[in-house]
Amino acid sequence: MTVRTRPLLLLDVDGPLNPYAARLPRPRGYTTHHLRPANWLARQTPGSRAHRRGLRVRLNPAHGPMLTGLPFELAWATTWMHEANTMIAPGVGLPDDLPVIEWPELFATDPDGLFWKTRPLVEWADGRPFAWVDDMITDLDTTYVATHHDGPALLLRIHPRRGLRERDFATLTNWAKLL
Ligand SMILES: [Mg+2]
Repeated sequence: MTVRTRPLLLLDVDGPLNPYAARLPRPRGYTTHHLRPANWLARQTPGSRAHRRGLRVRLNPAHGPMLTGLPFELAWATTWMHEANTMIAPGVGLPDDLPVIEWPELFATDPDGLFWKTRPLVEWADGRPFAWVDDMITDLDTTYVATHHDGPALLLRIHPRRGLRERDFATLTNWAKLL
């Protein structure tokens, strides 16, 4: 498979890469970072403890090499937008210049109950085959993509307690092979 024909792998940060609901304070393989993304900072009270400390994010430095080893072209599909390249990529070991989906509106309410990312993401993919890893995907989104996207798609819901696991990498690899 040449790079040009590779499917896209659209990456969410909170859930798949940062297992924010993990039970353990230090999940195995993960390191803890305190980051200050603009979207988060805007919601904090200036001078508060959270504002000073930053947002706790756990990242697994093994994930980057595992992701770049997959037969996909990676892109960010996250509220972190360009800050995924500057703040998340170094912690997971990904290149800092991946394409970024720029959302028209964050957390927009969808009239049909879709996840707010789904419509703009399908538009961005523009018919290219894609896999999408996110903790907020529902069956409604899977149905929407099946009927509105002119190409193969794999929507993989990742539990925010566990983040991306070996089995998810295997699922992605197998799906790409079948294209
Ligand atoms: Mg998420």
